[in-house]
Amino acid sequence: MAKIVCVLYDDPITGYPTSYPRDDLPRLERYPDGQALPTPEAIDFKPGALLGSVSGELGLRKYLESNGHQFVVTSSKDGADSVLDRELPDADIVISQPFWPAYMTAERFAKAKKLKMVVTAGIGSDHTDLQAAIDNNVTVAEVTYCNSNSVAEHVVMTMLALVRNYIPSHEWAVKGGWNIADCVQRSYDIEGMQVGTVAAGRIGLRVLRLLNPFDVHLHYLDRHRLPAEVEAELNLTHHDNLESLARACDVVTLNCPLHPETEHMINADSLKWFKRGAYLVNTARGKLCDRDAVAAALESGQLAGYGGDVWFPQPAPKDHPWRTMPYNGMTPHISGTSLSAQARYAAGVREILECFFENRPIRDEYLIVQGGHLAGVGAHSYSAGNATKGSDEAARFGK
Ligand code: NDP
Repeated sequence: MAKIVCVLYDDPITGYPTSYPRDDLPRLERYPDGQALPTPEAIDFKPGALLGSVSGELGLRKYLESNGHQFVVTSSKDGADSVLDRELPDADIVISQPFWPAYMTAERFAKAKKLKMVVTAGIGSDHTDLQAAIDNNVTVAEVTYCNSNSVAEHVVMTMLALVRNYIPSHEWAVKGGWNIADCVQRSYDIEGMQVGTVAAGRIGLRVLRLLNPFDVHLHYLDRHRLPAEVEAELNLTHHDNLESLARACDVVTLNCPLHPETEHMINADSLKWFKRGAYLVNTARGKLCDRDAVAAALESGQLAGYGGDVWFPQPAPKDHPWRTMPYNGMTPHISGTSLSAQARYAAGVREILECFFENRPIRDEYLIVQGGHLAGVGAHSYSAGNATKGSDEAARFGK
């Protein structure tokens, strides 16, 4: 019997939903590169239900309890008296979502003597100290591709919202105004702009493909070049460093993982490389950016807009400057947890658990750390080390 501790975000303040706006989800056959969608032996939820909140339980309770396991679900994850900390000493598996991350620091690994696996219900395992996982021989797995396209949609939405000045214009409509000049004094077309992505992985490439019909000029920065036929199809300009990309682009989006190599890549120095009035969209991870440097760049006009859904830490404290800085298009961390995405990552977590309990190999594309080193997709996209520093600040939320 194993003990699984699952950290999920709270239910809606109106209570767990009893109905939804739509009756079903579109059925997807495969991901764009041909990778198969999650293939658990069964699921015990209806796709389209809210699964990522505490009462949704990722649809796992029946499966786990019928196999004799103990399943603890909580949203209490920060501060020394959290339920997570209380349950850790005899936990075999910890599951959490990047939207409401259980920061698995070295201190928590030291407490969790029985821990064998940490699962990210989503993509991005930077909330786990990968070095500590390596040192403690704990497997880290995530559900690669489950919400990459969801995030790409959010990126394009945010770019358009910023460039066209959508959010303030909507606010004028709500408050009864007809202040066209107020709305359009910061409104442009994206057509013809130079738009670039830092990283052209699953999300970055999807963003490039979605943007192509807008007749923009597309750029990307990545350690590995895309195939020549993709570069030709999308008429891409490749850059091998951030300075070159930033100097060329009007709009930049960040789509690389957070790891020690990428932490704070956007800072007071690198922001000087951007064109005055550039837009920056970050749905990858808050810590890719220096928090105060971004807020200062919006105040000075060096950036015309900043948007996205990722913060550090999460939940962000109530006085986090990105909540109130000018020209921001921020949301809480939601892009990868649409009801559509939840159905995929809940099924992916179930697949990972089935493999773990039945001693079957976990797909390479889901593995980040295994056997004391970076493995599978983790060996390709991450670097060893720790990006969880400072996460204790999350305990300030709600205070
Ligand atoms: P992928 O692994 O498909 O892509 C990541 C890309 O980042 C790879 O192409 C990799 O390059 C590139 N990369 C890694 N390090 C660097 C670097 N130093 N400089 C430039 N490029 C680099 O992942 P996804 O596209 O699916 O997801 C990307 C990230 O987005 C996740 O790690 C996560 O942090 C975030 N995310 C956010 C979500 C949200 O809800 N907001 C949901 C899902 C993901 P290469 O392969 O060439 O080495």
